[in-house]
Amino acid sequence: MKKYDYIIVGAGLFGATFANLAKKDNKKVLVIDKRNHIAGNVFTENIEGVNVHKYGAHIFHTDYKDVWDYVNSFVEFNRYTNSPIARIGNEVYNMPFNMNTFSKIWDDVFTPDDALRHIEEEKKEMDGITPSNLEEQAISLVGRTIYEKLIKGYTEKQWNRSCTELPSFIIKRLPVRLTYDNNYFNDKYQGVPIGGYTKLVENMLDGIEVKLETNYFDNIDAYKELADKIVYTGPIDEYFNYSLGKLAWRSLKFETKVLDKVNYQGNAVVNYTGHDVEYTRVIEHKHFEFDIESSNTVVTYEYPADYEEGMEKYYTVNDNENNALAEKYRELTLKEKNVIFGGRLAEYKYYDMDDVIKSAFDAYKNN
Ligand code: FAD
Ligand code: UDP
Repeated sequence: MKKYDYIIVGAGLFGATFANLAKKDNKKVLVIDKRNHIAGNVFTENIEGVNVHKYGAHIFHTDYKDVWDYVNSFVEFNRYTNSPIARIGNEVYNMPFNMNTFSKIWDDVFTPDDALRHIEEEKKEMDGITPSNLEEQAISLVGRTIYEKLIKGYTEKQWNRSCTELPSFIIKRLPVRLTYDNNYFNDKYQGVPIGGYTKLVENMLDGIEVKLETNYFDNIDAYKELADKIVYTGPIDEYFNYSLGKLAWRSLKFETKVLDKVNYQGNAVVNYTGHDVEYTRVIEHKHFEFDIESSNTVVTYEYPADYEEGMEKYYTVNDNENNALAEKYRELTLKEKNVIFGGRLAEYKYYDMDDVIKSAFDAYKNN
């Protein structure tokens, strides 16, 4: 009999969920992570009493009751509702696109009919054209004025490509509402864990052996020897030693500052939608919580970046070339015996947190 039923590579949400379910079934589990902390990209670090989201702002939102009950069984969630502000030059608008946005963009908009009149008028330039890129898709969704103020700059900074060269599906994620509702998400459940995401993952991993600063690739054979199954949540191309080529990623650079003031921007998330500044968002972490009494505040400027060796991999680049390459790697995984691949890096997929937990439920059930 081997020492472990599972060795889980990666202490992010996929790995922690899988480990937790296995532990509940009395399986013997070891979790390893090459970083010096658990929680993967949802890691939060307490700075000046504020839980700082170190790998980008994370808001938990889901329609899955089972996932919501599951995460709430480890830690209480607060009532945070994401309602970002967009800044362009000296103007501020509510996001996502809703009646608050429309009434500020056009000074004769008070009702949904007024907003629709403007949007329909502006959409006319797309008559007879089937949107074939992000620019066309955006204009046919909300018209050129909003596209130019709130979408174009943000998107081009984020992807470092012109909106005319980007696929339209990127923008389909953004809701458009004819109500005065600034809630960014449509999901039934939403919030941020009280005490931070690290506490959530810490509780998920309670009683489970975890080894940090431990890279799977330093000892592959030994790990395979020690466990019946490996659960791998690292990058798929790296697992196969990049034998078919490297998958493309977008990265981010974060600049975090402690400011000697109570309240810097009055909101957790402020998007900067113009090309006048290089960052896309400024996060003021204390506003994710409601009981922070600190006289300081911690803010993070988020700069999109081309991925280079050694940087973190944040966003998949789902163009035809990379999708096809990922598919080829997926075919290779089918030949790997006793290895389960899961999570955003191993599946080369943009996953929200709830989807990654849900997919770990399925992976555990089906293994
Ligand atoms: P990860 O958290 O990346 O975990 C993988 C782990 O594997 C890492 O800790 C890594 O160190 C480890 N690892 C990799 N290779 C090895 C190796 N060789 N040996 C040992 N360990 C290894 N989702 C939401 O629902 N709401 C949000 O608001 C939200 N905001 C986001 C903002 C940004 C900027 C980004 C990029 C993503 C956001 N997400 C959000 C998505 C969320 O981050 C992911 O769903 C989640 O983190 C994926 O978890 P994972 O376990 O798949 O991956
Ligand atoms: N987006 C935009 N303006 C904004 C925020 C987002 O045009 O103020 C677009 C942009 O193309 C981005 C996409 O919407 O890539 C998805 O953004 P979202 O914030 O929903 O996702 P995230 O970047 O957090 O994954």
